[in-house]
Amino acid sequence: MYDIERFYQAKNIEDAVQALRADPEAVIISGGSDVLIKIREGKLAGCSLVSIHGIRELEGVSMEEDGTIVIGPATTFSHITNNEIIQKHIPILGNAVDMAGGPQLRNIGTVGGNVCNGVTSADSASSLCCLDAILVLTGPEGVREVPISQWYTGPGRTVRGHEEILTAIKIKRESYEGYSGHYIKYGKRNAMEIATLGCAVTVKLTEDRRYIEDLHLAYGVAAPTPIRCREAEERAKGMEIGEALFEAVGKWALEEVNPRSSWRASKEFRLQLVEELGKRALKQAVINGEGGNAHA
Ligand SMILES: Cc1cc2nc3c(=O)[nH]c(=O)nc-3n(C[C@H](O)[C@H](O)[C@H](O)COP(=O)(O)OP(=O)(O)OC[C@H]3O[C@@H](n4cnc5c(N)ncnc54)[C@H](O)[C@@H]3O)c2cc1C
Repeated sequence: MYDIERFYQAKNIEDAVQALRADPEAVIISGGSDVLIKIREGKLAGCSLVSIHGIRELEGVSMEEDGTIVIGPATTFSHITNNEIIQKHIPILGNAVDMAGGPQLRNIGTVGGNVCNGVTSADSASSLCCLDAILVLTGPEGVREVPISQWYTGPGRTVRGHEEILTAIKIKRESYEGYSGHYIKYGKRNAMEIATLGCAVTVKLTEDRRYIEDLHLAYGVAAPTPIRCREAEERAKGMEIGEALFEAVGKWALEEVNPRSSWRASKEFRLQLVEELGKRALKQAVINGEGGNAHA
């Protein structure tokens, strides 16, 4: 049994905003795979829910004329993975969300819920950080756009106001065109296990495929929020592709992360993963971009 005080099914975005305005305690529910667990555990027992499930304008993936990819936040993980635009332009995101939970979870869990829960282990988060995602919020005052670098304010917390709904996730053309990428999730089992550590890399290579032109390196569970390792990224620019580069980037990342010990893994083990996954994710991203002698 779920202890729910009130349930309101919103008809559209405006209706959902009004419903949130009318009830300062109400909680948005999309796929419900986080919210319902919290209600059952008692953390959200007795809450009122505003459902955005089934609002068509919040679902699907499209591309604007200028090449911006627009992802509806209520798009499920399965739909993200199977979407042609995602597969062609940002496969790293489709692969990342394909590692979440099991098939049932991926058919109900949404990418918007994964971003709005604010947790560092969210499988979409580090890829979206690499892709410089822009989060579009709609509230009573209108629409505002927040770069993902300004989204997270602490564990499980974001800049989203109570009356605001995430209505789109945008990826600009310059954030994906010419980049190849790779995401690695380290977990104890392949299914139904959140990440012990997640690492995403997107990389742009020089025309001759021998040097790094640009690098984006992001981690989940390496700090209280998902993070980018901006100094490591800067240091890698212009470097020749090869083992020395992969090794160095893994080591540099250690200077910017701050993982903690939990029942899942010790801080020391997570640091080891930061270095190793950074190295491997970069190497695979380079291979995906047909770079250097990375295959060797
Ligand atoms: C068995 C199990 C395994 C799991 N495994 C993984 C895993 O491997 N990797 C992983 O990343 N996650 C995992 N999760 C967590 C969860 O499935 C994901 O975080 C999922 O993306 C949540 O999406 P949802 O639509 O179900 O969110 P909901 O539960 O509906 O909402 C989650 C949060 O986001 C808010 N919210 C949702 N949509 C919006 C919106 N459009 N605007 C504003 N706020 C919104 C809600 O108010 C709530 O705070 C797992 C969960 C379960 C139950």
